[in-house]
Amino acid sequence: HHSIVDGESGTEIMAEAETDISVAAAIDEFGDAVGNDVDEVALARVLKTEIATEFAADAEDLSAYYAFEEGTEGEDQLVTGGYMNLAEGVLEGAELRLGHPVSMVRLSQGEVELVGPDGASILADRVVITVPLGVLQSENLTFEPELPATHVEAIASLGMGLLDKLWLRFDKPFWTEPAAIWTLGDPGDSPFGDWYNLAAINGSPILLGLMGGASARAWSAKSEPELVAAAMLDLEQFVNAGW
Ligand SMILES: Cc1cc2nc3c(=O)[nH]c(=O)nc-3n(C[C@H](O)[C@H](O)[C@H](O)COP(=O)(O)OP(=O)(O)OC[C@H]3O[C@@H](n4cnc5c(N)ncnc54)[C@H](O)[C@@H]3O)c2cc1C
Repeated sequence: HHSIVDGESGTEIMAEAETDISVAAAIDEFGDAVGNDVDEVALARVLKTEIATEFAADAEDLSAYYAFEEGTEGEDQLVTGGYMNLAEGVLEGAELRLGHPVSMVRLSQGEVELVGPDGASILADRVVITVPLGVLQSENLTFEPELPATHVEAIASLGMGLLDKLWLRFDKPFWTEPAAIWTLGDPGDSPFGDWYNLAAINGSPILLGLMGGASARAWSAKSEPELVAAAMLDLEQFVNAGW
């Protein structure tokens, strides 16, 4: 199963499949083909930490064809001192305008016109549009002429996942474990996937819990005390293990 979820044999199996199915269905259908005995606890852990918190969606909602395509290269980074540092570093002196919503993108005589809700517009030679999927799916941003049918279809058929984070700051660390990322061997009913140990990264007494997919949606309705209580149940297991 592990190789179905993230290894090459899973990709090979799907390359021969005629239609796309969900990752969950692929595991059900082809899991035995890999020939390994299934460790249910290990599978639950992979589904939680390698799937739900990695892709913000559960195996049921992910495409076995495309789910594991990497969108970016390189390691995860922790941005410190605010995301503006990142924007300014990348922009290298270009003008950054915040609070300038665009409601229409219009091609006019070889140029692109960006029109705001107040009707004011900006002209550009070229435009790179990186608004989130939800904005593209809404009526708040229109294109003239309309986007190509393939784009319209892709926008309509994609879905957005959910990844939530719970940050817990303690007076001082109660743990000594130097590992930066913690996962429970058996996730059980825990809503959390991974825990990030910021003490190991920048010395602050902070633990960050991640939850993704259906578990994040269900827990987004809970109160802060309920979340903290669930977090403490997780953390107790690390403490009991001597971390
Ligand atoms: C809670 C949370 C925690 C995360 N933590 C991490 C992390 O630790 N590390 C990591 O690598 N990733 C993290 N991510 C993911 C990361 O934030 C996103 O992948 C990334 O920000 C996506 O960038 P983007 O430019 O595609 O979209 P966004 O950052 O959403 O940018 C889209 C921009 O478009 C603007 N916009 C929308 N509509 C219009 C309009 N009509 N006109 C003009 N502008 C418009 C928005 O204001 C926004 O500035 C996290 C995400 C969430 C939700």
